[in-house]
Amino acid sequence: MFSKILIANRGEIALRVIRAARELGIKTVAVYSESDRNSLHTILADEKVCIGPAKASDSYLDIPNILSAADITKSDAIHPGYGFLAENPRFAEICESSGITFIGPQAALIRLMGNKSLARQEMKRARLPVIPGSDEVVESLPYAKKIAKKMGYPIILKAAAGGGGKGMRIVRTPGQFEDLFALAQNEARAAFSDASLYIEKYLASARHIEIQIIADTHGNVVALGERECSIQRKHQKIIEETPSPYVDERLRKKIVKAAEEAARSIGYQSLGTFEFLVDEKKKFYFMEANTRIQVEHPITEMVYNVDLVKEQIRIAAGEKLSIADGLEMRGYSLECRINAEDPVTFSPSPGTIDFLVFPGGQGIRVDSAAYQGWKIPSDYDSLIAKIAVLSPSRAEAIRKMQMALEMTTIVGIKTNLPLHLTILSDSDFIAGRYNTQFMERYPKKNGNQK
Ligand code: ADP
Repeated sequence: MFSKILIANRGEIALRVIRAARELGIKTVAVYSESDRNSLHTILADEKVCIGPAKASDSYLDIPNILSAADITKSDAIHPGYGFLAENPRFAEICESSGITFIGPQAALIRLMGNKSLARQEMKRARLPVIPGSDEVVESLPYAKKIAKKMGYPIILKAAAGGGGKGMRIVRTPGQFEDLFALAQNEARAAFSDASLYIEKYLASARHIEIQIIADTHGNVVALGERECSIQRKHQKIIEETPSPYVDERLRKKIVKAAEEAARSIGYQSLGTFEFLVDEKKKFYFMEANTRIQVEHPITEMVYNVDLVKEQIRIAAGEKLSIADGLEMRGYSLECRINAEDPVTFSPSPGTIDFLVFPGGQGIRVDSAAYQGWKIPSDYDSLIAKIAVLSPSRAEAIRKMQMALEMTTIVGIKTNLPLHLTILSDSDFIAGRYNTQFMERYPKKNGNQK
C-alpha cells in the first residue's frame, strides 16, 4: 500500500480523498494555489505545497509544478480527483514514467475515452448500442450538413474533446446549422484547444442514466447500479438519484450487463462511469465514459454502503476488489449540488461566507470544503457543497432532502438552495416523471438552450 498520496485537486473532492487516505493509514499532501492558502484541503492535509498563482493553468493544471511537489514530498501516488488533470492522459503517463502511481485507469484508456467520437466507435465495436450519429468527427461544413440531413433534425453537435457540457449545440433546422456549427467549434477550441465536432441524433425526451463500474487489475469487474442525472441545467447535473424511478429491474440488468461487458472488452482498471441516454421506449444508448471518480459518487456509496475512493486507492495499489458482485441496494439516495450562484440569473456568487450551518442526522451526508469565514475564490467552479440523503423509500428521501436543505443556512453569498427546494416540491419530480428537458419549465431564468 502507498505511504503518501498527493492530491492534485482542491475543494470538496480533495477533502474526500484526504478522508479516505487517512482511514487507510496513508499520509496526504495538498497542493494549493495562492488563492487557496486558507482553503480547507490546504489546512487538513498532512503536508502542503504551494504550486502557483490562482489561475488554474498556472497551478492545478501545471504538470511540472505538481510533479515537483510530489518529488520533494516523496509521494508515491497522485489522486487527481475530478476536473483539472483527472482525464489528461499525458499527465497519467508522466506520473507513471516518473515512478509515481496515477490513481486512475490506464493512460491509453483515458486517451481513448477522452475522445468521445473514438469512444463511440470503440463501444460500437464492443456491441454497445450507441446514439445514432456520425462515425467520425466531421471536419467540413458541407459534409456535416449532409450527415445531419440524412439523419434527420434535430441533431446535436458535440465536441469530441468535450466535457462539462461545453461545445454542444442542438440544431433543430437546416437553416441554423452553419451558425451553430461555428459556435460549437469556437467553444470547443477555446475550452479544449480542439475544435473537432461529431454529430448525434438529438434525443429530445431521454433520461440520463449512468452505471458505476469498478474494476481491479486482476480481471474483476463489478457494476454498482445506476444513477439518474436528468435534472440538468445547460447539460450540467444539478440533482442525482439512485435507484432511478424510471429503471425497472429488467432494464437495470440489461444496462448493467452492457456496461460491465464494455468495461471488460477494453480491459478497464479502476473506477469509471458509463453514461447512457434512455429513450421513451426504454431503449438505452451509450453516450460517453468518464474515467474518474464522479461528483455524484456519494449516492452510490450510500445505497450500497461502500467507499468508492478507498476502493479506488486499493485497486491502484494492486489489491483485489473487496466489493462483491450482486450487492443489494439498501434504500434510496438523492444528492443536491449546492452552488455559489444567483438562483435567478445563475451567475457565480463568490465572496465570504459570514454564517454557515449544515444539516446533520441519520442518513444525511454533506461533502463540502466550505467553512464560516472562508472567502470563496472566484477562480474555480462554484460547487460549495453536496448534500446527500439515504431513506428507505423515494418519497421519504425527498422529504428528508427538503428538511436537510431547509436546515441549511449560508449567509454572505447567494446559493441555488431555493432552486433545489422548488424542484423538490415539483409534482412531476415527486412522481419521478421527468427527463433531461425538466429544467426547460423555468425557461427565462435558467439560461437553458431552447
Ligand atoms: P459532457 O461530457 O460535456 O458532460 P455529455 O455527452 O455527457 O457531455 O452530455 C451531457 C448532457 O447533454 C447529457 O446528459 C444530455 O442531457 C445532453 N445530451 C448529450 N447528447 C445528447 C443527445 N444525443 N440527445 C439528447 N441530449 C443529449
